[in-house]
Amino acid sequence: MAIAPDERELLELESNSAIALLDNEEADESLWQQDCATAMSSEQTLSERQKRLAAGRNFPVIFWLALLHVGALAAPFCFSWEGLAVCMALYWLSGSVGVCLGYHRLLTHGAFKVHKPTRWLLAFLGGLSGEGSALDWVANHRKHHAHSDHDGDPHSPHDGGLWAHMLWLGWSIKGDAFEAHVRRWAPDLGKDPVMRWIGHMFLPSHILTGLVLAGVGQWMGGPYMAASLLVWGLFVRLVIVLHVTWFVNSWSHMWGYRTYETTDDSRNNWLVALLAFGEGWHNNHHAYPRMAAQGHKWWEIDMTYWVILAMKWTGLAWDVVDYKKISDRNR
Ligand SMILES: [Zn+2]
Ligand SMILES: [Zn+2]
Repeated sequence: MAIAPDERELLELESNSAIALLDNEEADESLWQQDCATAMSSEQTLSERQKRLAAGRNFPVIFWLALLHVGALAAPFCFSWEGLAVCMALYWLSGSVGVCLGYHRLLTHGAFKVHKPTRWLLAFLGGLSGEGSALDWVANHRKHHAHSDHDGDPHSPHDGGLWAHMLWLGWSIKGDAFEAHVRRWAPDLGKDPVMRWIGHMFLPSHILTGLVLAGVGQWMGGPYMAASLLVWGLFVRLVIVLHVTWFVNSWSHMWGYRTYETTDDSRNNWLVALLAFGEGWHNNHHAYPRMAAQGHKWWEIDMTYWVILAMKWTGLAWDVVDYKKISDRNR
């Protein structure tokens, strides 16, 4: 079993975060200090789960997730092959390209570089996954890597499998505390006004997607097809994308094999890897967080990496991080 440079990776993440904070001319020192002081004073007494519970329920998120699940219940009553095809296509576009490639490998870990318009487009596609803004997603995920399966991890199965899967989303910090959270963990995104605007477009983008799907369905085959494309292309697809992403946080920290010795419980889970376009090779990922490829053996299929390779070949992406190369280790 190979020993992964886990501590070095975390230090790098921490220092990148600090450097980005220093670069942020608008960084609010008082918020930053307040966040640290709050964290230090409560760290001794409250676990991360208890801190979230104390922050109160996040009703907009609870309502959003409940709405999607209730909407998906209509699926058997308006099935069509066209609806299923749209569902699968958008599952790949919002799940693999939006979340796995955009939110995760690019925006969270900097596994490759792209031009700014490509970065913004990928952030928009990530938002179409129904998983909130890039700022929130990236901040939570960087915090997960820094504290994985230890106190401070927002979603560790140590706090319960269902908590790690989805319950943790039901409680959240808000207002100034949320801003401090973004400044601490995602200052590079927080200082980008376009990225913030894309985050504000989260709900309108889903309403627009729903209107387009219903409109195209109506044009194709009347009210039944309109309902079919809307329910399968929006509600069913979002429920699938959400749970598949959540499986990475729950199943891939509970079941599977470990190739690398890491300080967390991350596992390589082939079922999650297939469903989540390569993200289920999660032990590989925790061992080498910035590495663009998450499948490290020839049979560990990583569909998201195929898209990164296609982007590299077409010039859309460059500086793709591969720790097997000495030059990338020193980057
Ligand atoms: Zn993890
Ligand atoms: Zn990650």
